[in-house]
Amino acid sequence: MPETLTHKNTSESLKLFERACNVIPGGVNSPVRSFKSVESNPLFISKAKDAFIWDVDNNKYIDFVNSWGALIHGHAHEKVIIEIEKALAKGTSYGAPHENELELCELIVQSVPSIEKVRLVNSGTEAVMTALRLAKAYTKRNKIVKFSGCYHGHSDSVLSMSGSGFATFGIPSSPGVSKNTANETITLPYNELFSLELILNKYPNDIAAIIVEPVMANAGVIPPIKGYLESLRTIANKFHCLLIFDEVITGFRLSKGGAQEKFNVMPDLTTLGKIIGGGMPIGAVGGKKEIMDLLAPIGSVYQAGTLSGNPISVACGLATLKSIDKNTYTYLEETTNELCEEVSKLNDKLGANLTLNKTGSMFSLFFTKERVTSFEKAKLSNTKSFAQFFKLMLLNGIYLAPSQFEANFLSTAFSKEELTKTIEAYKNSITEMFK
Ligand SMILES: *Cc1c(COP(=O)(O)O)cnc(C)c1O
Repeated sequence: MPETLTHKNTSESLKLFERACNVIPGGVNSPVRSFKSVESNPLFISKAKDAFIWDVDNNKYIDFVNSWGALIHGHAHEKVIIEIEKALAKGTSYGAPHENELELCELIVQSVPSIEKVRLVNSGTEAVMTALRLAKAYTKRNKIVKFSGCYHGHSDSVLSMSGSGFATFGIPSSPGVSKNTANETITLPYNELFSLELILNKYPNDIAAIIVEPVMANAGVIPPIKGYLESLRTIANKFHCLLIFDEVITGFRLSKGGAQEKFNVMPDLTTLGKIIGGGMPIGAVGGKKEIMDLLAPIGSVYQAGTLSGNPISVACGLATLKSIDKNTYTYLEETTNELCEEVSKLNDKLGANLTLNKTGSMFSLFFTKERVTSFEKAKLSNTKSFAQFFKLMLLNGIYLAPSQFEANFLSTAFSKEELTKTIEAYKNSITEMFK
């Protein structure tokens, strides 16, 4: 057995997890962190730098989670840390406007083609909540269409069939959401237009918005089939409902202008999060002026936040976005392509009949030979095999997203060396599984 496959000592993580279970439900502050679906216990992280994280037992891993995609430059990027430190010295929160939040908003408006005005909030969940409220107010309609496997945060109206957490733990929809609220949301399959037209014809005057992850990244990576996003735009126009792109993951991940720029399809409203905070809590909702101006204090749609535009989050986000240059996306795509090509070659060579989905710098390896174009297809994956694979990769020093239904992310901190190590680990793991 190769040296790297010997057992890793993770006893300190286990001790902390047992302690955590006494005071935190499930021992974690967000469900997918629990490693439950991969039949394991979570690692407690002690520090992170560039492409690496270390656990409390001092094991070092190449990190493909990157705080669920938020860290496009990897951990503790020097320029980002400097700006956070500068901001910290000037106080942690003002509860009043400041110039940096304006600069971040201007940068978002300049970068994301469909956004004319934007408001900062504290999380992606809040951004979606506000976008849906705006859509309902603007159209004076009450129903929302979403797609199964798309995750839009944990607010009541979007909590059905919402991706990883649900797939991982086998929860179809959440108790605690009232029937009336649940009934306002219609969940349809992604990458398929027939059911969407059927529903819109059935409720032509009731649908306020169609909300979608333009590239699904919360059920594993599932790209839109050719023409799908264009059709969503056409259908939304035809039925006078709004099209909302939830770009909390894809925003500044697929290009500076997100998926809407990459696929050249413009939504009415866009939600952002993750990368725009560079690893600090933030979210944003933006779109057409006439819709955004419905927000208080100029409009009557209420939305507020004690810590919105927080100076530290803003400094971190701004430094992150300013560190993106014209080579960033080329580099990310090239390194991701290289990694995925090597993985595919190994699969062919070792007879591993798996499905690799990829868009930009995000990818997922599904343990099924079927083409994965929807959540329903993703669920055909063998999650037991994924769990085994995940644990083997961990033993080989690679920290992947701990669920079959999550995306893996590269960052600009990945060098040739990390790619080589990952491919080596992949070879060891797949050989072990398919020998
Ligand atoms: C992460 C995510 C959210 C929720 O963002 P939080 O900051 O975790 O509330 C919403 N939509 C998408 C597409 C996401 O990936």
